[in-house]
Amino acid sequence: MAVRRWISWAAVVALAGGLPLAPAQAQQAPAAQLPAPLAAQLDAEYDHVIADLVRIAETPAPPFKEQERAALYARMLRDAGLTDVTIDEEGNVLALRPGREEGPVFVVSAHLDTVFPEGTAIKVRAEGDRLFAPGIGDDSLGLASILAWVRLMEANRITTRQPVLFVGTVGEEGAGDLRGVRHLFTEGAWKDRIGSFVSIDGTDAARIVNAAVGSRRYRLAFKGPGGRSYGAFGIVNPMVAMAETVRGIYAIDVPRDPKTTYAASVVHGGTSVNAIPDEVVLEIDMRSGAPAVLAMLESKVLAAAEAAVAAENAARSTKPGTITLDPQLIGDRPAGHTPADHPLVEAALAASRAAGFTARLDDSSTDSNIAMSLGIPAVTIGSGAGGGRSHSLEEYLAIDRARFVAGLSVGLATIFAHTGARAD
Ligand SMILES: [Zn+2]
Repeated sequence: MAVRRWISWAAVVALAGGLPLAPAQAQQAPAAQLPAPLAAQLDAEYDHVIADLVRIAETPAPPFKEQERAALYARMLRDAGLTDVTIDEEGNVLALRPGREEGPVFVVSAHLDTVFPEGTAIKVRAEGDRLFAPGIGDDSLGLASILAWVRLMEANRITTRQPVLFVGTVGEEGAGDLRGVRHLFTEGAWKDRIGSFVSIDGTDAARIVNAAVGSRRYRLAFKGPGGRSYGAFGIVNPMVAMAETVRGIYAIDVPRDPKTTYAASVVHGGTSVNAIPDEVVLEIDMRSGAPAVLAMLESKVLAAAEAAVAAENAARSTKPGTITLDPQLIGDRPAGHTPADHPLVEAALAASRAAGFTARLDDSSTDSNIAMSLGIPAVTIGSGAGGGRSHSLEEYLAIDRARFVAGLSVGLATIFAHTGARAD
């Protein structure tokens, strides 16, 4: 691709008549709109992005087994033009693009993992203006978007003020518990050198996530003596303690603001229909935007479980043994936020609006949680023109060309605005 130069952002915006930006706004946020030559190049990337998407989505990345996709993504980042590409101890793919200045890096990430277990058949299927495949939007799209941006930056010899570290993270979903990004911020080689962070996740380029919903997740094991259903009738049953726990949890009042939630989500246990079980396991998800509220909810949930166990031990015979509770913390995502008037948030909102979206702020639980909880400016932005059925086998992505390319522009324009990008 030819190396192109363009005049300053402000001049391009001023020249482009009919843009939704008023002149005064254009001066305040000149980089919100991609310069026309780059917008055209991004449009020309469409087929390449779709092909990348299919390749990434069809390479499995089940929880804790992202290696195959990580290796592919490292190759793709090299093919896009980056030379400093590595895979860290946790399995994250890291690609450094130097800046004009040294100093803290700007991390641009997307997650490698999916929620789908090993063995899930993944074949991308096109139907009209939609691509169907598990994980196609969440987050194959984020990974493919970054590749397109890198190709454009390389082809146009765009420099950024600070170094940009492109990252494919492991373990964003579910039980992964943000292990990839947590490693990046707390143990990895870059841990003390990250100045700001953006996660490209989801299919909605209108949605700018600047608040991190925290979560605490527990696996509660209720254990008891067990016995024959007929012969041992009358002894304590961990199933009853589990059921009472669910009932107790669902009697807890939580505030609407900050939105605070709980769910009894997984249950398993028992050995046979004709046996009193010796173990029943219940998994609980709790979330809130406020750490103190989340801590209070957690103590009430654990108290409900303890009360249920005590009640069962009082209600039936404990002669062969009592019911015990073994709570295990299986998920811990810290809450946090980036102020709405932070330049990174404003840049993302402006880029989304300039691309024609009705931009809005939102809260969610994403890779940005870790950055936000550490007070490092972060946002999570979508990169598409819509999709749905995320985390299901019928997940789909809208690929109507104009809207799709508009969605693709938002993250790139945000990166440019935040890094003082220019074609040298
Ligand atoms: Zn995701």
